[in-house]
Amino acid sequence: MELVKKFREMIKKMKAYQYALTIIGWDSNTEAPRNTFKRRSEMSGYLSKELFGLRTSKEFQDTVNELYAKIDNLDDLLQREVKKAKKELDKIVNIPEDEFVDYMRLINDSQIIWEDAKENDDYESFKPNLKKIIEYNRKFALYYNDQANPYDTMLDDFEEGMTTKEYDHFFNTLKEDLVPFVKEIVKKSNDAYNDLRSKRYPKEKQREFSQYLLDEFAFNRKSGLLKESVHPFTWNTSPEDVRLTTKYMENYIFSSIYSTIHELGHATYEQQISTDLDDTLLNGGTSMGIHESQSRFYENNIGRSLAFWETHFDKFKELFPEQTKGYKAEDMFKASNHVEASLIRIEADELTYPIHIMLRYDIERMMFNGKVDVDTLPKVWNDLIEEYLGVRPKNNVEGVLQDVHWSGGMLGYFPTYALGSAYSAQIYYAMKDELDIEQLIKDHNIKEINLWLKDRMHQYGSAKTPKELIEMISGEAFNPDYYVRYLKEKYSKIYN
Ligand SMILES: [Zn+2]
Repeated sequence: MELVKKFREMIKKMKAYQYALTIIGWDSNTEAPRNTFKRRSEMSGYLSKELFGLRTSKEFQDTVNELYAKIDNLDDLLQREVKKAKKELDKIVNIPEDEFVDYMRLINDSQIIWEDAKENDDYESFKPNLKKIIEYNRKFALYYNDQANPYDTMLDDFEEGMTTKEYDHFFNTLKEDLVPFVKEIVKKSNDAYNDLRSKRYPKEKQREFSQYLLDEFAFNRKSGLLKESVHPFTWNTSPEDVRLTTKYMENYIFSSIYSTIHELGHATYEQQISTDLDDTLLNGGTSMGIHESQSRFYENNIGRSLAFWETHFDKFKELFPEQTKGYKAEDMFKASNHVEASLIRIEADELTYPIHIMLRYDIERMMFNGKVDVDTLPKVWNDLIEEYLGVRPKNNVEGVLQDVHWSGGMLGYFPTYALGSAYSAQIYYAMKDELDIEQLIKDHNIKEINLWLKDRMHQYGSAKTPKELIEMISGEAFNPDYYVRYLKEKYSKIYN
């Protein structure tokens, strides 16, 4: 079909621009010298503008609309692709151009304003921008669909098919079943392994351990590599080019170990997607939540297990004989599962982490319902975190100013972090029915786990929706009870 051929060609062209931008971005985050900044932002600005022009061009819109009109005659994969393209277009093209340009400028400015506000604990200077960002997002969501709750539209941007109805159920389950348990465990928190965690671990040796982990997790080095960056991330242009970073801190050993394993989860997902999807719109992970379920699965369900430390403690000891003197594998396991009521989300442990997300969900929901405005926001934040975890921020840097997301216009993103962990628990129990996970870890055979995931989910890329994947893997819809059960089983054992 002529039309399909045209659609394919346009997508290929967009992918070429995207490819260049990804490689430039990778370079700028890992190796590029400081003075390359000006020229690079000029060049990548040009490429981004061209790409945006292609994505929203009349020609592309017409092609997508024509295909959409004939959707029933297309094969399943193409149907999914056209629907995806149509939805993305509908979200942008209904916004008046001047408003869109204003919004882009607002987001650009807000980044620096937020950074300064955080630096100086000056919420007031960020407040007007935050107010405008919320207003614009509400407005844009209504342009797309004036029948839906705007926050539902935003949630769907980050996790297809998820609405406040599902998230309310999820977070209410956590509120009722998990919060009381977390409060109990937090009371038992102690400093028993502080020493082991924060001894000095030379970077060179940490690097060696991360490289060892890459092989232990069967990462395909011919199709990827590991570097270092301030904030760890994984970027890819295809399953044959998947690059991840980690962060080495000499006084905190778990930073590099768990960043490496977390990013390996994202990377393994991308490496195992079928290359048949390369030239389609379906060639990446299907959603934020599903992506995060993979990183959390590798990080927490594998990396923070007793079996993991029993298997790799010898190698660790060989690299750090002084630091580990007098300690056993079980101590590493306990040290890596230390629980503490803390204020900063990105430093939170596996057990208290979802509470930080629950708080952000509550707040975003109230902001969109008009129940909280930017004036009362800091107080509401502080009251809620105190209610949930028993700790109260001394200032707004420890509270409402800590995350980058809102300044970037990412409202509706946070819930996917907790959802990812909850998905990973559901996947974990489904896998456990078929595989002896513990034994595979002990046999240095994580490859077998990778293949199970490839077969059940990775290969499909975005060809399946998050809901379809969860059903296919576990035989039922998303069910937050698995997550609560997993956390309770694990932490009851560790904290008696
Ligand atoms: Zn992640």
